[in-house]
Amino acid sequence: MTAAPRFSPFETTLWYATAAPAPETDMLRGTERADVCIVGAGYAGLTTALELARQGVSVILLERMEIGFGGSGRNAGHCTPTFTHYSLPDLRRVLGEPWAERLIHRQTRANDKVGEMIARYGIDCEWEQNGYVQGALFPGHMKVMEARAAAYNAVGARTRMLDRAETEAITGSPRFYGGWLHEEAGGLNALGYARGLGRAVLAEGGRIFTRSGVTGCEKRDGKWSVRTDAGEVLAEKVIFTTGAYTVAGWPKLEDTFRIMRVFVAATQPLSAESQAACLPRRTTIQDGRGDIYVYKYNRENRIVASMFPMGRRGRDPAYTRQVLSERLKWLHPGIREELDWQFFWFGELDMQRLTVPRLYGLAPGVVAMTGLSGRGVPTGSMLGGVLCEWALGVPEADLSLRLEPLSAQPAYMRFAPQLALRGYRLRDDLRALIQRAPLPPHA
Ligand SMILES: Cc1cc2nc3c(=O)[nH]c(=O)nc-3n(C[C@H](O)[C@H](O)[C@H](O)COP(=O)(O)OP(=O)(O)OC[C@H]3O[C@@H](n4cnc5c(N)ncnc54)[C@H](O)[C@@H]3O)c2cc1C
Repeated sequence: MTAAPRFSPFETTLWYATAAPAPETDMLRGTERADVCIVGAGYAGLTTALELARQGVSVILLERMEIGFGGSGRNAGHCTPTFTHYSLPDLRRVLGEPWAERLIHRQTRANDKVGEMIARYGIDCEWEQNGYVQGALFPGHMKVMEARAAAYNAVGARTRMLDRAETEAITGSPRFYGGWLHEEAGGLNALGYARGLGRAVLAEGGRIFTRSGVTGCEKRDGKWSVRTDAGEVLAEKVIFTTGAYTVAGWPKLEDTFRIMRVFVAATQPLSAESQAACLPRRTTIQDGRGDIYVYKYNRENRIVASMFPMGRRGRDPAYTRQVLSERLKWLHPGIREELDWQFFWFGELDMQRLTVPRLYGLAPGVVAMTGLSGRGVPTGSMLGGVLCEWALGVPEADLSLRLEPLSAQPAYMRFAPQLALRGYRLRDDLRALIQRAPLPPHA
């Protein structure tokens, strides 16, 4: 019996079918030299390489498969510069100062960075900055969102509360009691963005080798030797940005997170009538439940929606398509056409007990970053700045992330994310029941 592949197929994604082509890259052969060697061509690795190359640092990026093979090429493409798992006050409590404020500043300004890189390098990736709405499916949710709006606005984000009528006008859905609009949020073609960042790295003089999986890294004659099957890079500093798709490279790096799978599906291009009834202003939307259903359009007017697998959902394709359709049509009764989910794919998230990006000091001159989890589009885009500062020798105390020793996730993290999802679902059902709000189908 052959073992199941470790990662879900990449070629089934909508982005693989529609992204602008990747720049040409070779496999690493023989010995190359650079000031900094980066391992993993996702957003974190690409933006680090770009920032360094822009500053004239010689940089080599090694990728095991192809640019954007990991989460960066297969995510749903929402770019919302917020934190998923923590409110801002909770984040301050958990991280302490100055770390919380520095990370909050970077994350909430991340879309300026995304927009700037896309404009500067002419990246063809369907970037639209049309905002993000979180809807309230029961009245009590408005209070939670008001606190969130106040906290984000206090740090300079452009967000506001929506009443019922305006939520309907913006989203096309009559189901919401109100909502929270983040005006700076956007969406993009995930793989197109990754490939465009790759082109930008090359344009700035950085070098990228693909099909060049790192098998080991050790100190030799005062340099780090970063080995692949066919070559090595000799560098002063090494940065691992291999995320949930980490394979080998450095011992125990995989223990810093637990995998959680998530799926994304895309419909046929919708008719003009359906578009008028569903996100007429092309915002991204999250239906407000903790067990999330989040969706947006792509350039061809397909709805691209993501959810976490749970029970039959995700496992049984026919049932999963039915769940996706019934939920969307319940939220937008004006969609009258049949929905045909033509693309369906899975991806892996690097979940941690503290799900915020973590910077690990592996050895003098070697760091790793994992834990971007489900907000990696803005987070990965801004982290290049942080890792670049580390590589340029900014003192540890002045970085935006605390440098910590490598640590494994506790065993309960194998189950905790799935249990949390079920808990959120139960909590939201109870709240809706108590507040006499209707439940979405397959809630
Ligand atoms: C299905 C899905 C939907 C998502 N939706 C969203 C969303 O809508 N919005 C959002 O903000 N975030 C979303 N995310 C999260 C986001 O995609 C990730 O957080 C982000 O892309 C992680 O970026 P990264 O640079 O850390 O790692 P990755 O993009 O995973 O890149 C790591 C790279 O390292 C390479 N690698 C691994 N080991 C080696 C080695 N030994 N040698 C060389 N290379 C190696 C891998 O091949 C891979 O290409 C989603 C994720 C998934 C999976």
